[in-house]
Amino acid sequence: MIKFSTFVQTATNKTLAELNDQDVYVQLLNYVKRISADKPKNTGKRKVYYISAEFLIGKLLSNNLINLGVYQEIKEELALAGKSLSHIEDIEPEPSLGNGGLGRLASCFIDSMATLGLNAEGVGLNYHCGLFKQVFKHNEQKTEPSYWIENDSWLVPTKISYDIPFKAFTLTSKLDRIDILGYKKSTKNYLNLFDIKSVNYHLIKEGIEFDKTNIEENLTLFLYPDDSDKNGELLRIYQQYFMVSNAAQLLIDEALERGSNLHDLADYAYVQINDTHPSMVIPELIRLLTEKHHIEFTEAVGIVRNMVGYTNHTILAEALEKWPLSYLEEVVPHLVVIIRKLDELVRAEYTDPAVQIIDEHQRVHMAHMDIHFSNSVNGVAALHTDILKNAELKAFYALYPEKFNNKTNGITFRRWLEFSNQELAAYLKQLIGDGYLQDATQLEKLLAFADDKQVHQKLAEIKFKNKLALKTYLKENKGIELDENSIIDTQIKRFHEYKRQQMNALYVIHKYLEIKAGKLPQRKITVIFGGKAAPAYVIAQDIIHLILCLSELINNDPEVNKYLNVYLVENYNVSVAEKLIPATDISEQISLASKEASGTGNMKFMLNGALTLGTMDGANVEIAELAGAENIYTFGKDSQSIIKLYETAGYVSKDYYTNDEHIKRAVDFIVNPALVKLGNSVRLERLYNELLNKDWFMTLIDFNAYVKAKEQILADYEDQDSWNKKVIQNIAKAGFFSSDRTIAQYNADIWHCEG
Ligand SMILES: *Cc1c(COP(=O)(O)O)cnc(C)c1O
Repeated sequence: MIKFSTFVQTATNKTLAELNDQDVYVQLLNYVKRISADKPKNTGKRKVYYISAEFLIGKLLSNNLINLGVYQEIKEELALAGKSLSHIEDIEPEPSLGNGGLGRLASCFIDSMATLGLNAEGVGLNYHCGLFKQVFKHNEQKTEPSYWIENDSWLVPTKISYDIPFKAFTLTSKLDRIDILGYKKSTKNYLNLFDIKSVNYHLIKEGIEFDKTNIEENLTLFLYPDDSDKNGELLRIYQQYFMVSNAAQLLIDEALERGSNLHDLADYAYVQINDTHPSMVIPELIRLLTEKHHIEFTEAVGIVRNMVGYTNHTILAEALEKWPLSYLEEVVPHLVVIIRKLDELVRAEYTDPAVQIIDEHQRVHMAHMDIHFSNSVNGVAALHTDILKNAELKAFYALYPEKFNNKTNGITFRRWLEFSNQELAAYLKQLIGDGYLQDATQLEKLLAFADDKQVHQKLAEIKFKNKLALKTYLKENKGIELDENSIIDTQIKRFHEYKRQQMNALYVIHKYLEIKAGKLPQRKITVIFGGKAAPAYVIAQDIIHLILCLSELINNDPEVNKYLNVYLVENYNVSVAEKLIPATDISEQISLASKEASGTGNMKFMLNGALTLGTMDGANVEIAELAGAENIYTFGKDSQSIIKLYETAGYVSKDYYTNDEHIKRAVDFIVNPALVKLGNSVRLERLYNELLNKDWFMTLIDFNAYVKAKEQILADYEDQDSWNKKVIQNIAKAGFFSSDRTIAQYNADIWHCEG
């Protein structure tokens, strides 16, 4: 590998010191791209196609330097030339190809696939404006397009192109790729991002409004265009079919190249469907095999069934896609023919209406099609898979018990420790060596230091340094004055009622009122929120509004701001997460039990030495098992009780409100004139009424238990030795949550491709 300064000299005829940061950034990008261009691709007979509507990849420069094993060298080389790598990192725009956990998971997975040397690639779409950029105005969320593609980028154009047939026209695709480097691997993989050739930015009007009908020019403009109207839904169908038809054509071409006769296609390819967005790949593969390659329908169905796995990510009924057959007819009538045939196959075998593909309202249940015509159905945490088997997908589990399996989510430690928490990573290496980077279970060696006071002291110092770094970042980028001496209590994730940011907001109100009444906390608390709300999700925006109003009220109240600060960090994304997580003391994972499939934010915090305050939901259950119940703070009703309450319609929020003065006081404050003055009364009143009269995700049921658990964790913080002992036990047991483990399990149980 040539030295970076030599590369720069050759490319620009200048020394490193003569370049400005922007030029250094471009040279670093080219340097990494040159090195990775020379790496051979992973090979192997069977290749995995991980199809996902989202890849929330985050910035790639540092991650690539780490995976190449040159991060420290480059940092030192730059320092010698008077440059700061972290300033140069700031220049890179964050790709905007994902929304939340599902897209971040897909990104951790492709990192691990490359690290394990598997012939396994991501396939998705290259959204030009991606997910919207969030800005706050008048304490409300506003949305702007996020233009992230610059002239110099990680995208590598290819000549690969397919015709994608729709009812009214045919679109020609083009494929751009991003090289995915494994950690210290000589080989690489690709992230395949399909695009149209004719994206037209002029279709964008105010904010992220755009002409949704001009498919030939808008197909890859935005991720998840607002689907609250019919044109939005149709556009999603166009996007999904475009994605999977490209994937299917690519997969067949590549299998043919490797010697498949297509009758044996399942030996050459495996498709993992990440949530239901790519489900149409099933009928599309069948269509291509039968119509283009003249394989009998029955045989084609058998082939496809042996090469597809479906990952379920949610049990929220409203999040399971059901497309009206008439919409599919409008967009892809040739696929409807196949879907109807699949539906007939199911009807011929099973009479239970609960397992049909097309329901009595002529809607196509994408998940049902996936389950019937795949050979693997997995949930993403132990509890979630249990709920799928015993409740949500019970009827299917009865039919196909052998298909169901669990793959608890994971995160890549290269990004979420090695890069984002360099102080901690360096210290861990001192204590236990660097073997944990490739074998995460080696973190357990830390247990030997659980009672070591010097280690406790050092961990506290690292946390404090990370708080100082966060303080600088928030000041320079987000206009926030962080108090580095406060306890940092963080809830960062998409805004959704089931995640219950509103319960945390009610706690903030509670604390504010307590402070006003003279009950002062032992130490100042900083509550940090971050997250976007879907533009069509009104209540989620109302919750954002409440938090922004509270933030203005509390941070400007001299009686209170000595003890409590509240911030909602604008435009939460991967880069923001990388700064917030290492500085956090308390990780808020407070979803309503049974509703969070897994969570991965919880794992990032655990690995970075924050203690979890959470419900027994998703992977929190496994965190508690691994770290030990005494090392995490759990509270609230369990999933069984909650599922029962839904079945019996047994939750009445008003009863909780009427019977508890603290709950009443906190909820009433939402419409207190002092708060309403700072905001929009329509939003605050709507939220107040929602909590009082509906509260579908049961905010109030756990409120008192939450306050109690929070007071406990805050009090326990004061005993720093005991706190840091807990921190050690958490970090030591976080190894299980490496995405390398998750991907090794996918491969061993589902994909069976050689690495
Ligand atoms: C990890 C991550 C998520 C997922 O967070 P959860 O708490 O699991 O919902 C969402 N967004 C970003 C930017 C992330 O890094």
